Amino acid sequence: MTRTAIAAAFVTALATAPPTPAQAFTGGNHEDITRAALPWEPVTLSAMADAKDGAVNANDHGGYFLIGPLHCDNADYLAPRLVQHYPRSRDEATTELLACIRTSVARFRNAIRAADGLVDAHGRVRADQSGLSSPCTWKETSDRAKCDVLEQLGRGWHQLQDFHTHSNWSDRPAPGPVGLDNPPGLARTDAVPFFAIGRYSRMEDADWTREARSLVPEELTTGCYSDFDSTGVKSADCADRVTHNRHLNKDTAASRRSRTGDNFARAVAGATAETARQWNDFKAELRRTYPDDRRGEQMICALVHDEPASSCP
Ligand SMILES: [Zn+2]
Repeated sequence: MTRTAIAAAFVTALATAPPTPAQAFTGGNHEDITRAALPWEPVTLSAMADAKDGAVNANDHGGYFLIGPLHCDNADYLAPRLVQHYPRSRDEATTELLACIRTSVARFRNAIRAADGLVDAHGRVRADQSGLSSPCTWKETSDRAKCDVLEQLGRGWHQLQDFHTHSNWSDRPAPGPVGLDNPPGLARTDAVPFFAIGRYSRMEDADWTREARSLVPEELTTGCYSDFDSTGVKSADCADRVTHNRHLNKDTAASRRSRTGDNFARAVAGATAETARQWNDFKAELRRTYPDDRRGEQMICALVHDEPASSCP
């Protein structure tokens, strides 16, 4: 089976699996981050951000919850200077990270396509496709074009927000020796270079994959979680690996890793900047893809306004 088919099979098989609360930034954190990042009108912003029903939280519900690449899980690795033998190679860890990025690139491409339905051939907003008088449902079935775009964006941004809490990109280790029980932290505050999702969306998968692989720092790690990795393997206990639950997550201010310095604030700041950057990249791609009759500009107007038919003449 292809990776997509494997993921689809998991979604079907696990649609009733009950979520456990430790998986990710809580829905409330995803909501706060998303609200801080997006200058959208209130109804539209809630449709994207809501802690329970927002598109950005859809990956934490149903079978999606246990698919590791939808949360950037299982890209765990420690270098030989830190442990004698780590059960996973740098290459295997990076492959899981690339699987995570790939889910986001696919969603971005879908969102660009779905946006075409927001505006007619002459650049006029289509009222029937852009209203939110009844709520969107995030079921990957065709709804109004606006719901389709919001769902694809939300399902593509979730894992990028998760990366900031699930990885050691921006955090610092606790005082004392660094190793399996206290993974290194990279303390990065710059934009994640391998999350150039907009640019990757225009490239051949083999090409952006090669570029992204070359940009992953040697000591980057996310946490092992007992969900399915990109090869369909579910680690029962994550033995001898850097884990989400015990070691690395900053899902709440009370998480173990959050207790060192300002690690929690760093994860939140990174995820917020990430979301703003992804929205800006998406807008730029709409303008590039749909330049005629200002259609791309009108699509952006229809996305950020609650009443596009009147707000976007
Ligand atoms: Zn998640």
